[in-house]
Amino acid sequence: MITIKAPAKINLALDTLYKRKDNYHEVEMIMTTVDLADYITVTPLEKNEIVIKSNEFTMPLNEKNLAYQAAQLFKQHFNIDKGVEIYIKKRIPVAAGLAGGSSNAAATLKALKELWKVDCTIDELAELGAQLGSDVPFCVYGGTAIATGRGEIIQPIPSPPKCWVILIKPRIGVSTKEIYEALDANQVEHLDIEGMLKCIDNKDYQGICDRLGNSLEEVTLERYPVVAEIKNKLVQFGADAVLMSGSGPTVFALVRKEYKLRRIINSINGCFREHEVHAVRLIG
Ligand code: ATP
Repeated sequence: MITIKAPAKINLALDTLYKRKDNYHEVEMIMTTVDLADYITVTPLEKNEIVIKSNEFTMPLNEKNLAYQAAQLFKQHFNIDKGVEIYIKKRIPVAAGLAGGSSNAAATLKALKELWKVDCTIDELAELGAQLGSDVPFCVYGGTAIATGRGEIIQPIPSPPKCWVILIKPRIGVSTKEIYEALDANQVEHLDIEGMLKCIDNKDYQGICDRLGNSLEEVTLERYPVVAEIKNKLVQFGADAVLMSGSGPTVFALVRKEYKLRRIINSINGCFREHEVHAVRLIG
């Protein structure tokens, strides 16, 4: 039995450059890891089958689950005729813009490599992961990275300075596909990714806060006004910087000082009882 941590990610920057012929958007993203995680436990089975179990029933527990698809691909790719049970201990909200499913797929690939003692590199796992979803390669590497192509080309970069991340997820799920389909890539105001990379290199926290940006935000905010409401409140409560993650609906706030974190959490508790709230560390 092997257990692997599957952490969530946030996008410090998400820029969409243009729509490609294959209908994917060419993107430029800076992704980093936060300490909110699922745990993937793989256990060998006698029968040659893949069984998914979880504490969370709002995601599919069958062949539609990304962990199932990861196991199926791994078995095919390495010619393995063995069975496995995959238990997903879920804490990352589903369809939240935090790459929960992609992170589960990445952790499943890593766990199966260990379980079945397969000799392969992390780069090979990331390449396999790209067949499952654009965010899976980043989740295989973890840390902080710049992601290009459709998000699957990963170049690791240094960690941003330490800070707290408050995640607020309203009780709605947002489909990434729906948001990308509604996006007009020609209307996007592009981000200062180079500037952001320099700030990360220089551990310039304020510079990072000033350059947060997400091209998908406008589309999601228009459709789901609750996301704008959460953003406005977090700014009002004194967060250092606030942005929607991925295609939403989760909004994250960066906060450096612990006293400020406590004050903001108190304000949130007084007004946002209906939303899911996590205060975690940035661990990228
Ligand atoms: P991303 O940020 O990569 O776009 P997300 O955080 O918005 O992803 P996920 O939590 O990965 O969204 O869920 C997206 C869809 O995938 C949901 O509709 C969910 O039912 C389905 N899904 C399949 N497998 C999983 C899994 N292991 N965990 C979460 N969702 C899963």
